[in-house]
Amino acid sequence: MKFYSLLAVFISLSVSAQNLKLKKILSEKETVKDTVFTLQTLDKTASVDMPITVIKGKQKGPTFTIIAGIHGMEYPTIMSLLELRKEIDPKKLRGNLIIIPIVNVTSFYKRTPFVNPIDQLNLNRVFPGNPNGTITEVMADFMTKEIFGVTDVLLDMHGGDVGEDLIPFICYYDNKEFTKQTQLAAKLSEVSGFDTVVSYPYILPADKPAMYSFKQAVRQGIPALSIEIGKLGNWEKSELSFTKNAIFRMMSELKMYDENITRANPVKIRYNQQAYVSVPVQGIFYSDLKAGDSVKKGELIGFINDIFGNKIKEITAPESGVILYKIGTPPVNLGETLLCIGF
Ligand SMILES: [Zn+2]
Repeated sequence: MKFYSLLAVFISLSVSAQNLKLKKILSEKETVKDTVFTLQTLDKTASVDMPITVIKGKQKGPTFTIIAGIHGMEYPTIMSLLELRKEIDPKKLRGNLIIIPIVNVTSFYKRTPFVNPIDQLNLNRVFPGNPNGTITEVMADFMTKEIFGVTDVLLDMHGGDVGEDLIPFICYYDNKEFTKQTQLAAKLSEVSGFDTVVSYPYILPADKPAMYSFKQAVRQGIPALSIEIGKLGNWEKSELSFTKNAIFRMMSELKMYDENITRANPVKIRYNQQAYVSVPVQGIFYSDLKAGDSVKKGELIGFINDIFGNKIKEITAPESGVILYKIGTPPVNLGETLLCIGF
């Protein structure tokens, strides 16, 4: 018992040391500082490195945290954030940027979709995390406390992982409790340049974990957004400039940076509701539809065959709307999200 409490003290000390490091960097004069934060499980059997760049502006302003690579194979946002980091001039910046270009470095280098290969957990399902848990839970705990703890606005960037087909969109939670934060998230979505804006209902009972990174930030009262861009593990140059422009427009709206970026066209499409289809049985999925296609309620979307090619299940649309994302490669597993319809 005593041994464990000593260990707990050691861990809380090491976490607060990291915290001090981040706070110290934020208290320095205008600077661009790259730091690798090493996180470790309580029993020291697993550790990860998390690269964090702090760009401290010349003038005072908000701290805008921009992260990518919670899922290590979602390349367009990772690559765009690495470029953006080089393009920001701290002399022109009001406030601070905290940039984490690749949150899940292990998943990135091992080319593992969705999960951290060390413990097979999906970082975007374990928030707020656990300082005494597995390495992915320790990472979530670090972000919840240390990163979100100093964040005024959060942008958590994702994209179509190796098996995901999707259309680009920007999204936020319609949190009725923190109306000012929700309004700011809506405004930042509006100016971003994304044609499609998705708002999710914010339903989160007090005794339930947020699970998702940006939902956790919303719970903590932080205006937070997420974007999805790119699909099937690919990345295009045009997606990098599109993503960077979206961030520059948000920074301009936050009065943090004046970059000569054209104003975005008005948002064309909004989806305030979503319908999800779960995979009913493991098998091989066939569909002629792609992300961005419209479907009518009850329409046949595709079917699932067994490993001998026999049809075992037909999939129909639960609502009329547009497919925001779907599994874009043949294998599907029981309980996975097969597709999401926005309407
Ligand atoms: Zn993702």
